[in-house]
Amino acid sequence: MPTQLVTTAAELREASARLLVQKAGSSQGLVPTMGALHEGHARLARTAVEQNDVVVASIFVNPLQFGDTVDLDRYPRMLDADLALLEEQGVDLVFAPPVEEVYPGGEPLVRVTAGSLGEKWEGASRPGHFDGALTVVAKLLHYGIPGSGLPATGAFVSGRGGGLPAYRAYFGQKDAQQLALVRRMVSDLNFPVEIVAVPTVRSADGLALSSRNRFLSAEEREAALVLSRALRLLAERATAHQPLDLESAQAMVESQPLVGLDYFDVVDPRTLEPLAENCRKVPFRGEGLAIIAAKVGPVRLIDNVPLSS
Ligand code: AMP
Repeated sequence: MPTQLVTTAAELREASARLLVQKAGSSQGLVPTMGALHEGHARLARTAVEQNDVVVASIFVNPLQFGDTVDLDRYPRMLDADLALLEEQGVDLVFAPPVEEVYPGGEPLVRVTAGSLGEKWEGASRPGHFDGALTVVAKLLHYGIPGSGLPATGAFVSGRGGGLPAYRAYFGQKDAQQLALVRRMVSDLNFPVEIVAVPTVRSADGLALSSRNRFLSAEEREAALVLSRALRLLAERATAHQPLDLESAQAMVESQPLVGLDYFDVVDPRTLEPLAENCRKVPFRGEGLAIIAAKVGPVRLIDNVPLSS
């Protein structure tokens, strides 16, 4: 079935309800994106298609999460290519609302605040970013609730699962802090949705795919590889039960002249609090997350790997 493009909440409700009935579906997946899609987004969409009867992807560049209007204006927009990529993955519906649909009265008065988890790491260099991101994710999660467009929810009793359809939303592990915050929001505020994390997709040489990579020169792209190399080194040490020796990995990144390191640390994957110092000096045991952010030329890049032993 061809992917259908909708631009208003009313159209989305109507179209997703119709599809659920047509397919006698018992589940709906939502894949929120800002467009300029690549293979990382495609993996999210494919995972959602595998796990759900109806899949909605959203494309919305959210002004609320950009501190800098230059960054917002510069954000790549390419709807036709994005639609083609999503159609290839089997996405049923693409919700690409204009700003006035999402914020009809201008900026919202009442917002979600990310709390202390939103102030560290990425939040430290982008004040307010996660409040804006969570506010729009909250809205998107509500837009995507399955079945709200049906005249009577009773229609679902005949669906495969019976009762209300399952609802899942897909987020990339690449944006680890966003993922941790979305999980907290959903749990703290009782959103009726299951959050599914999808592993980071990388190019063959290790660079994590990002819509920002297009702004790297060939030389900067080569230099940026040190980020994933340093993370891989830590993951290998963890798996081999060796001390992480974060300092030597940091020195490796700092030796690259085109890379300006912002942070590089080992944290708890849920709270993003740094793991105790002695975890780094003795053979690594347990679970952790190595996170890194750096400016490479004009581009700020983030990456992370799970550590497990
Ligand atoms: P964005 O459009 O950049 O806001 O990203 C939309 C979703 O795609 C987010 O959940 C991201 O974490 C996810 N994503 C971005 N890059 C990757 C990647 N390389 N691998 C997996 N997921 C990704």
